[in-house]
Amino acid sequence: MDIQQKVPTVKNPPEQFAGDVWVDPLVAPRDGDQRTVVAKVRFAPGARTAWHSHERGQFLHVTEGVAYFGGRDGRIIEVHPGQTLYTPPGEDHWHAAGEDTFMEHLAILENGDDPAVTTTWKEHVTDEELGRA
Ligand code: MN
Repeated sequence: MDIQQKVPTVKNPPEQFAGDVWVDPLVAPRDGDQRTVVAKVRFAPGARTAWHSHERGQFLHVTEGVAYFGGRDGRIIEVHPGQTLYTPPGEDHWHAAGEDTFMEHLAILENGDDPAVTTTWKEHVTDEELGRA
């Protein structure tokens, strides 16, 4: 066993995120058929992901601020620190910080058989979809 080397914080790409979103990769597969991936993700106020889905679903544990998660049915779920949201495999959704607060969450998921398609990215979320039009 060993202490893992710290991976540098990276800014997420504008094709998939609107506003400033930074990610710290914490856990990635190292041996055998491991699939677990964990990242600490920090959103600036008002920042959001584009629409996307995860092949094997995702758990989102909010650690700071106020988080909003939306689905194609138009429902928006507000999540607070200490709460964990679950998104089922293949279900389109987005993540966002509140308009006037930073938001941090842990993103926990399993890689797909082809790790390159673990997450499928789609179009950006509109202000109307966010309820901020
Ligand atoms: Mn997600």
